[in-house]
Amino acid sequence: MEILRKSRREAREAVLDDYPSACARFSWDEARTWLDGLPGEGGLNIAHEAVDRHATGEDGERTAIRWLGKAGARREIRYRELAELSARFANVLDALDVAHGAGVFLLAGRIPELYLAVLGALKHGAVVTPLFSAFGPEPIATRLTLGEGRVLVTTTSLYRRKVAPIRDRLESLEQVLVVRDDDQPLPEGTRELGPLLEAAPPDYAIPATDPEQPALLHFTSGTTGTPKGALHVHQAVVAHHATARFALDLRAGDVFWCTADPGWVTGTSYGIIAPLSLSATLVVDEAEFDAERWYRILDEEAVSVWYTAPTAVRMMMKGGSERARSRAYPSLRFIASVGEPLNPQAVHWGVEAFGLPIHDNWWQTETGGIMIANFASMDIRPGAMGKPLPGIEAAVMRHLPDGDVERVGHHDEEGELALRVGWPSMFRTYLHEEARYRRCFVGDWYLTGDLARRDPEGYFWFVGRADDMIKSAGHLIGPFEVESALMEHPAVAEVGVIGKPDPVIGEVVKAFVALKPGHAPDETLRRELLGFARKRLGPAVAPKEIEIQASLPRTRSGKIMRRLLKARELGLPEGDTSTLETSR
Ligand code: AMP
Repeated sequence: MEILRKSRREAREAVLDDYPSACARFSWDEARTWLDGLPGEGGLNIAHEAVDRHATGEDGERTAIRWLGKAGARREIRYRELAELSARFANVLDALDVAHGAGVFLLAGRIPELYLAVLGALKHGAVVTPLFSAFGPEPIATRLTLGEGRVLVTTTSLYRRKVAPIRDRLESLEQVLVVRDDDQPLPEGTRELGPLLEAAPPDYAIPATDPEQPALLHFTSGTTGTPKGALHVHQAVVAHHATARFALDLRAGDVFWCTADPGWVTGTSYGIIAPLSLSATLVVDEAEFDAERWYRILDEEAVSVWYTAPTAVRMMMKGGSERARSRAYPSLRFIASVGEPLNPQAVHWGVEAFGLPIHDNWWQTETGGIMIANFASMDIRPGAMGKPLPGIEAAVMRHLPDGDVERVGHHDEEGELALRVGWPSMFRTYLHEEARYRRCFVGDWYLTGDLARRDPEGYFWFVGRADDMIKSAGHLIGPFEVESALMEHPAVAEVGVIGKPDPVIGEVVKAFVALKPGHAPDETLRRELLGFARKRLGPAVAPKEIEIQASLPRTRSGKIMRRLLKARELGLPEGDTSTLETSR
């Protein structure tokens, strides 16, 4: 088997320099001592650990966020300033009588206000949900309703396009705070955030925060039913901080670029909280992916640790490594990737392009932080996700007929990836769906819904999902949400949605549709359906392909057989399709 060896020097210089002894020594209690806690035994608050504790003295002068605007603007926000801005936001919430524990949602591109509002809301004790700004009105309405959002922070243009049309459905929503990004009059029913921030005091004493107090609500898709709201608590920061040190080799003073959007869990855990908790400088690029721009940022912003995703890497690979090699990247020390399988070629491409391999790691919304990784000090097996972090016990499980699970009998046998409960960033429930939450556990084990195998050396390999979830450009998409949107069209009788393998973005969302009588299956209607879905769901979730069929295959109980549709699409034998159905 191919192995990419690390030198002794590389191992010695890594934060996690000796994996076996770190695993033997480490405890989450020790990791708690790496953080400060609120003054006067006031508990643990993410925003204090991420910002306020670095805001005074010399540390306060360090750049917390280096923001690169789409059109070339730049803004450096120092820790001291970020502490003040987030304090102002917390005071705005107080002034508006927003209850502690209320849901504060954010819908914005990567603009500075997004970051100060997340941190300010955490100071205030709100439960924060960043939404992906490429969502269309339907996913926004579903999530705001399920999460009982009371406050929404957005921009005037996003509000007009995506929220105004659904506003009357959002019964819990009390306040909409907008950042102006156009010249039109302020939309009715909103308040402008800028003047509110200016009028608010720049200091805020964070109230006592129980480490188990809810802090973040991240929605993730389910195979059936509505999206699931995975609830995380303030002490998740213990794991954010420790795992960034171990798996990303991140240290104080690093210039760190996480390319994930805060609308997805990676963009919050590692795009905001973890690097700030370590007193690193965060690069935030407002613009969408552009290979040339990314090479320039890595070079000119002197990025030292880069955390990205396989789709982005594969898009860069398409342009060839010469383009990457036209720059030097003298500061770049470590590259990691997450979210979907990282193919071995991509690991090697890192070496060709940057002189550094790409380190794959694995986690999911529910785990709140990285669980399995290829560490800086450890030989890489290209294609493997790596080994469990210190403090994490992972296993490959086989399901028994009585509902119990047991570890698979031998190495390399496939089963469901499971984690022993007890790490601080584990989700505490699916909001209002306690039964669905409990179904994820058997005894002490959390079952991840992923299929994996473990090799004799202890490396974990991703095999696939145990369910019908789709991973497209790193985004987890639930087929049900897409099917429900298409079912709203008057011509549609039935829909089945699958992920169709794609060499660059992993999977593309493909919908199979059967029409109601009286509708002709022509190109005009197919295009109309594509546009209809895109308008409701937004470009990140909508199907890229729609195929109209006379009827769709169903089980005896009437469920559309997505797996059969997928098997037919791939030209596979149809018998192999009735595997595991999970309840998640
Ligand atoms: P999300 O909750 O949206 O972050 O998606 C989590 C899912 O993404 C996991 O359950 C996996 O199916 C997939 N995933 C995350 N990281 C990896 C990885 N390194 N390799 C393969 N799949 C991954």
